[in-house]
Amino acid sequence: MTTRRVLIIGGGVSGLAAAQLAHKIGYSVRISDRAVMPVEKKSSLTAQGIEIKDGGHDESHLADMDLVVISPGVRPDHPLLVLAQKQNLPVESEIDFALRNFHGRLVAVTGTNGKSTTVSMIGHILDRLGIKSSVGGNLGDPPSAMVLRGDLQSTLVLELSSYQLEQSQAHPAEAAAFTSFSNDHIERHGTLEAYMAAKWRVFDWVKPGGVCLLTKDVSAAAKSFGMVRRTDVTWIEVSGQHNEINAGISIHVVAHLMQRTDLDRLGSFLADFKGLPFRCEIVGTINGRPVINDSKSTNCESTCAALGGLKSPVILMMGGKGKGESYQSVTTWADHIHALVCFGASGQSIADELSLPLGGLGKDTWVFPTMDEAVQHAGAAARQCGCGVLFSPGCASFDEFRNFEHRGMEFNSTISGALDKTLDGIPQPKN
Ligand code: ADP
Repeated sequence: MTTRRVLIIGGGVSGLAAAQLAHKIGYSVRISDRAVMPVEKKSSLTAQGIEIKDGGHDESHLADMDLVVISPGVRPDHPLLVLAQKQNLPVESEIDFALRNFHGRLVAVTGTNGKSTTVSMIGHILDRLGIKSSVGGNLGDPPSAMVLRGDLQSTLVLELSSYQLEQSQAHPAEAAAFTSFSNDHIERHGTLEAYMAAKWRVFDWVKPGGVCLLTKDVSAAAKSFGMVRRTDVTWIEVSGQHNEINAGISIHVVAHLMQRTDLDRLGSFLADFKGLPFRCEIVGTINGRPVINDSKSTNCESTCAALGGLKSPVILMMGGKGKGESYQSVTTWADHIHALVCFGASGQSIADELSLPLGGLGKDTWVFPTMDEAVQHAGAAARQCGCGVLFSPGCASFDEFRNFEHRGMEFNSTISGALDKTLDGIPQPKN
């Protein structure tokens, strides 16, 4: 048999994992990367026999290939992809490549918010039941790395973004979940309807007889966009506050996987689920009131979800690089807001939108150019007024930070001076 040759487009984490998997299962592998790869990385790949073409994509990289595998970040109109399609070369996403080589049980989870928490909760319950599973995808390891680890018969719990769903085939899954839906990523999908359609594809993955999980809100939105429900699967709708939704979905997924009906017992395994860092994470107290780091919040829906879960009013901190969405729905939770502190590139526009409705209810709004100044102010104000702080930016972090983790760690560092006492194990910046 002749060796099949694969070109991997993109030398990032997913591309490299796909390259390693392809190499392991006997392909001859070439990677084409836009950037120049660090010398060490390059030489260790070359030593394994993987060919590297870095510093820019070129059509010559397609020469002699039998298959093209694309990393998640590569857009459908990428010139090399277009050319590959013209040459009738089979093209598949990194996820498709990985899942074609996986033969265990699969669970797929998508949603605007709640994906990472839900896949982690599913993994947690399975772990408590002594069932081996791998949790990853959009969060954590790419599917190729999970398959490469060799647990081909175990359970794979995959977090899938709308981009990944758009680029992938439907793979046979036991269950799929759609945790939430709101106006995000419109810049890529063009319309809200296209964004819904991309996410709704997750239900195509479910095997006949499998389970499709969604929320009442997702269900209503899907209906308004004319999405059709399959009739050969079971549909379960959950409702509640956001972490109740995530928990409800996880419990139903595990119940289906393990053929169990004792939902309460399965739910009890979540009692010691710690939650993920930077998602509504209590990082300390000020005068005994919670300081909550929800740096993962990059859209208005997640800020509303965080507000909805509060027991007493807070100083709400919002800002960063907005995506042009309206923040009006935050005012639905005005009872949970003592005052608003805005910051960063979109701080002023958020304040412009919210200061009037909040001001009408006697609540102050402040604006600061940088997050650091805003955090210092929020800490001092919280100490004075005796309420907690909710840091739930509702915007991307890229105006001041590398990513939401970097932003979250900076928040922890700056607020620490105002805290009664820092809790153990809270992530802090390394320098
Ligand atoms: P994702 O992986 O989809 O980004 P996460 O679990 O990391 O989701 O949570 C992202 C943000 O959304 C956090 O701010 C979190 O508090 C909030 N959130 C979590 N679950 C939900 C949900 N079901 N609905 C709305 N917001 C949620």
